[in-house]
Amino acid sequence: MCDRSPLTDNVGVAIQTFSVFSLLPACPSCDSEAVVKNGFIHNGKQNHRCQDYGRQFVANPENKIISDETKSLIDKLLLDVREDSDGWHC
Ligand SMILES: [Zn+2]
Repeated sequence: MCDRSPLTDNVGVAIQTFSVFSLLPACPSCDSEAVVKNGFIHNGKQNHRCQDYGRQFVANPENKIISDETKSLIDKLLLDVREDSDGWHC
């Protein structure tokens, strides 16, 4: 029966990976994860504040949060989903 597609598993992993993007970044100075959102700076980017030292910083998602390794993992997962949707049959 077709009650469980392997495609669903891949999508679940991809969604979990994407959800990493919404996590708060660690402090770039002390690597603390005790970080809170602190409004937005003039260009609309999310500002953060480290609760350990009170230092404010703006995360750079291109360099800090999403590593090249993560990007290639997501590319691979999405590729797997496409391949599965083409090749998977009941
Ligand atoms: Zn800090």
